[in-house]
Amino acid sequence: MVYVRFGQDGYKVYDQLKQVIFSGDSNHESLFDYVAKDVSELTQLLEDYVARRMDISTFELKEYNEDYSEAIRIKNVLKNLHPYYNCSFNVRDTIINALGDYINLLLIQAQYERGTSTISFPIEYEWYKERFVELGIPFSTEEDITHFPDTPFLTPQAFEYFSRFNEAIGIAPTRRKESGYFEIKELDAYDNHEAFESVIETHNEIHRLLFWLLDQSNSLIGSLSIPQRLWIYQNVFKKNFVKKVTQRLALATPTLYEDKIKDDEIKKENAKEKLFSSLETLRWLHLEEQEILPEEGEAFEKVLELSSQYSSGGIYDEYEITDISQLLFLEILQIAKNKQQLGNKLTIKKCQYCNMYFIAPRSNALYCNRIVSGEDKPCSKIGAKRLHDTRINSSEAEKLYRTAYNRHYAYIRNAVSAEAMDRNERKFKDWQVEAKENIQEYDNGTIDFELLSNWMQNSSI
Ligand SMILES: [Zn+2]
Repeated sequence: MVYVRFGQDGYKVYDQLKQVIFSGDSNHESLFDYVAKDVSELTQLLEDYVARRMDISTFELKEYNEDYSEAIRIKNVLKNLHPYYNCSFNVRDTIINALGDYINLLLIQAQYERGTSTISFPIEYEWYKERFVELGIPFSTEEDITHFPDTPFLTPQAFEYFSRFNEAIGIAPTRRKESGYFEIKELDAYDNHEAFESVIETHNEIHRLLFWLLDQSNSLIGSLSIPQRLWIYQNVFKKNFVKKVTQRLALATPTLYEDKIKDDEIKKENAKEKLFSSLETLRWLHLEEQEILPEEGEAFEKVLELSSQYSSGGIYDEYEITDISQLLFLEILQIAKNKQQLGNKLTIKKCQYCNMYFIAPRSNALYCNRIVSGEDKPCSKIGAKRLHDTRINSSEAEKLYRTAYNRHYAYIRNAVSAEAMDRNERKFKDWQVEAKENIQEYDNGTIDFELLSNWMQNSSI
């Protein structure tokens, strides 16, 4: 769990000790990078990992194997996805949740195919926990291992996912109807699911919302107002984009109330705790004119004195974040609100060169300031030239193709018989396919212009 505060220029994300883990500025690059990333490999990685540690039809754990390559790769994909995953607890929680969902999916499928499955239902909690913990261990953080060498940190999650499993297959009633009957969920609903679905779905959802609300490159909706776009989004997808987020009022600097959790000084002397507990009767101060008792007077003076160090710095809306989708949703909301105020002074587009979103410094800007891999200058410096080069290259290739095409076409039309005409036409079609493949290879840089040119000029049918 982390906390986020938004300001005029972006946001800051804190951990529970109020240390800044990362921040985002008004360029929103981490959001734009996030939507451009490919997360699809997570599914295969987790499925491979589980299959290597456990037989997925008998659910027997396999012999201990030190190769955790998929587990490491999964962690790295998340760490590269967004700074939210700079916090190792967030990486762990995300993976453990995906693991729990996937184990349950496998079990539900086994339950669904009861005739062919070799495991018997209902299953025992201890049986479930053993598998959950064994599969979850490689995803623990260093702190987990230091504080809980026997892995009880996975026990609450194992219990939670065990309950969810039972709920899903209807052993426990999921919802009580007013009539007193229980409704059991349909097992069919678990068909066609796969590992890491919620991370992948969140990724899609955030990208979709960003596109529908803010992308101004799109020729169909790019010039519409934000309210108009939101209205279309809600009606096309028949939903509001809803996220539950806990909000609280917070100070710029930590309060004593928060301090005392971590501050050893305060813990040791316990003095401030006593000070505040002597003022308990103040809880009725708002109801009546109340005289402060003489013994409270001194304590209250002290509190006023302590509080003076918080007299500046302001108060903030702070949100509690337990899932990356909450953070990104709030960020998009913030951009949309700013955009409403700033109009075209805030323009979000896709870069014409690298195809990633950016905040355009001018509404007619076409290229971003990223330096994409394989380049040493930003798109704004080289994008136009690169695209120009590509267009010239393509048109040169096109010219070669046209010339060769006309030559071959003239040849096949001169066929002496209907049979020869048919044969030539078939050969001509094959030639066209091969020519297109060569142009594709040239565009990809696999072959150079000279090679392409030789092939076009010397090709025969
Ligand atoms: Zn770019």
